[in-house]
Amino acid sequence: MQDYFTSIGEKTFRADQVLQWVYHHRVTRFKDMTNLSKVLRESLDGTAVLEFPEVAAEQRSSDGTIKWQLSLPDGNQIETVFIPESERGTLCVSSQAGCALNCKFCATAQQGFSRNLSTSEIIGQVWLARQILQDKGLGVRPVTNIVLMGMGEPLLNYDAVVPALRLMLDDRSFGLSRRRVTLSTAGVVPAIDRLRLDCPVSLAVSLHAPDDELRTRLVPLNKKYPIAMLMDACRRYIDDDPRRRITFEYTMLDGVNDSSDQAVSLVRLLGDMPAKVNLIPYNHVEGLPFRCSHDAQIAAFQDVLATAGILCMTRKTRGSDISAACGQLVGNVMDRLRRGAGQLRVPSKGIS
Ligand code: SAH
Repeated sequence: MQDYFTSIGEKTFRADQVLQWVYHHRVTRFKDMTNLSKVLRESLDGTAVLEFPEVAAEQRSSDGTIKWQLSLPDGNQIETVFIPESERGTLCVSSQAGCALNCKFCATAQQGFSRNLSTSEIIGQVWLARQILQDKGLGVRPVTNIVLMGMGEPLLNYDAVVPALRLMLDDRSFGLSRRRVTLSTAGVVPAIDRLRLDCPVSLAVSLHAPDDELRTRLVPLNKKYPIAMLMDACRRYIDDDPRRRITFEYTMLDGVNDSSDQAVSLVRLLGDMPAKVNLIPYNHVEGLPFRCSHDAQIAAFQDVLATAGILCMTRKTRGSDISAACGQLVGNVMDRLRRGAGQLRVPSKGIS
């Protein structure tokens, strides 16, 4: 934005002013930005736009989770989820329309991939959600945490995601600390190294298996970036900050990755890495052959990790009654990979 203002012969501080109008005062018309000159306001009206995704549908879960289906100008739809807890409000944001990774147990993969979201479409989800939540009277700062765990692989949309992350951290916009912004990746190793230098927010890694054979079956990206390479990148990511740890996500799939032996292998794999393991009970996806592990199996798995001194939690499933839980996010996206039968993939369940 500073470059933009320079290019039209204005001072760079105009960017700060506009950011503050948009993010702090929720003003979305240039003509209402009263500390800009009238001439500048008029010129902005002719040359710039302030655009937000449009809410196509809103659903509220019995547990308070809210899911928005958002329409983008080109007809794609994405989903954003708000998860309220007593001490915090977490917003789960999408980074792509669809996803190209084809993880075998994820609903988004079934939809195919359409395109990367722009920085504006990513940060627009945060702006819009905060606005709606404030209007509902859900607090002055309803969003305290942001996770890039919605549709898409954020590190395959690096150039748009990093500026969006910076806006989440910037005091002129959302001003969140980098501990409260988490990017989740299936393990795009070179981009993990870039992120460490460009914008080291908290990192979550979707692991799901303790060995390459199984992980490649579940997360095909593992063929390109196998576990040893991924672990090295994780170590480098937190190397210079002794207080940090990597979160590993592990979706519990009955009879696939949930045995006690596999828990032991996971302990060995993590070794002394500063890590936290989030066990995610598998959320049902129509048409897929997986089932969630039994509670006792999840507890036993967690026990093995805890006994070995690894911080481990079982993620509470939120919003599954409205298909808003992990791995259930789908939008109507134009599938350019033609993985499914038609080009426009309509969710079989949830809002349509
Ligand atoms: N592409 C990124 C961001 C998606 S995050 C990544 O892979 O990390 C969504 C998380 O939910 C990932 O850990 C994903 O593996 C997990 N997930 C996908 N499908 C799921 C399902 N059906 N049940 C539970 N977790 C699932």
